[in-house]
Amino acid sequence: MEKDRISYHESVRRVYDRIKKDGMNNIWDRYEAQGMGGNPDQRCTFCMGGVRCDLCSNGPCRADVAKDKRGVCGITGDGMAMRMMLLRNVMGASTYHYHTEQTIKTLRATARGKTPFNIIERDKLNVFAGRLGIATSGTVEETALALCDFVEADFNRKADEPSQIVEALAPDERKKTWKNLDLFPGGIYGEMLNATSSCLTNVDGYYVSLALKAMRLSIAMAYQSQIVNEYCQDIIFGLPRPHKMRVDLGVLDPDYVNALPNGHEPFLGFAMVQLARKPEWQNKARAVGAKGLRVIANIETGQEMVQRWEMDDVFYGFTGNWIMQEAVLGTGCVDLFACDMNCSMPVDPAYARKYKIRLVPVSDLVAFEGVAERINYEPEKAEEQAA
Ligand code: SF4
Repeated sequence: MEKDRISYHESVRRVYDRIKKDGMNNIWDRYEAQGMGGNPDQRCTFCMGGVRCDLCSNGPCRADVAKDKRGVCGITGDGMAMRMMLLRNVMGASTYHYHTEQTIKTLRATARGKTPFNIIERDKLNVFAGRLGIATSGTVEETALALCDFVEADFNRKADEPSQIVEALAPDERKKTWKNLDLFPGGIYGEMLNATSSCLTNVDGYYVSLALKAMRLSIAMAYQSQIVNEYCQDIIFGLPRPHKMRVDLGVLDPDYVNALPNGHEPFLGFAMVQLARKPEWQNKARAVGAKGLRVIANIETGQEMVQRWEMDDVFYGFTGNWIMQEAVLGTGCVDLFACDMNCSMPVDPAYARKYKIRLVPVSDLVAFEGVAERINYEPEKAEEQAA
C-alpha cells in the first residue's frame, strides 16, 4: 500500500514498518487483503451497493433495482439498503445510549458523594435542569439527582409517549415539522424496540418508511443520548475549552510507565489522571525504574478528556484514532491499555502478547478472545478500579 494511504503521519509509517518486520497482522494489510483484482478498494459490488441481505435462511440474497431483481422474500434493493442502514442506526444509538446510561449513573453516584469526582459546573447543571423544567431551588446535589430521575424516566417512555427531553430542548419550528411527519420520538428504548422490530423479514420492506424510522430514532438519540451525555459529562468534568495538547505517537516515552485509557467513556481515564497526579503514584513508578507515570489519552475517550482537562507532565498527551491503534501498541511503549465500551480492536490481544501490554476491558460490553482479566466500571468503585 502507498505510504500516504498508510498514514500522512511519518510516525505511524515508521511503526508500520516495525510491526511488519515483527510479523504482526495489521489493519493496512488486512484492508488490502479484502480488495479484489489487485484494487484494495474494490469489494463485492452487491455489498458496496448495500443490495445484499442475509437476515433469514432463504438468503443470502442479492438485488438489482434497475432489473427489478429482488430478494427471495420480494424486498427491493432500496428496501434492503435502507433496512440495513436502520439496523446500523440502532447499533449506533444503542451504543451511544449505553455511554449515556453510564454517565447518568456516574452523575447520580457523584451527587451522593460516592465517586472521586465532583459536580464542578454548577451553572451548567442549573441551566440544563431549568431548561428541562426541573426545580433548581434545592442543593446542587438535589438538582443533579432530580435531573438523573427526569432523564431516566424519559428514556423509558414508550415510543407513543412523546419525549419530554425533546419537547423541552428542540426548536418549536422543528417540533412542528416532526409532529406533522410523525417523527417526534418517544423514549429511546421504545424507539430502538420499534426500529429493530421493523427490520425483521417481512415486517417493513418499504424504504421510505424505514428511512422515516431512522430519522425518528436519530432525533431520540441526538437529544436523549448525545445532548444529555455531553451536558452531564461537562457538569462532572468541566466545560471543553480550547487549549494546547501534545499529540501523535511522540507522546509515548519508553522511559515512563504509560497507562492508556481507550474507548469512548472518560470516567476511569479521569480517575487515573487524578491518582497519577499524586506523588505516591509517581513514586511507585520510580520505584520500578521508570522516570514516572503518565496517562496518555486515546481515541474518543481521549477526546472526551483532552477537550476538558489541560495537559501537564502526568496527563501528557493524545495519540490518535483507532485506525492507528496497532501502531500505538506496536511502539512497545504501552504498559496498560484499559478498554472501555468502544474502539478496542479484536486483534489487540496479539499485540498485548507481542509487546508485553496489560490489556484490560473496563466495561461489561468489551471482551477479547484469550483475555480473562477484566474490570466492569462501577462509578462507586472508580478510584479503586483506576488504581
Ligand atoms: S430477508 Fe428477504 S432478502 Fe433477506 S435473506 Fe431473507 S429472503 Fe433474502
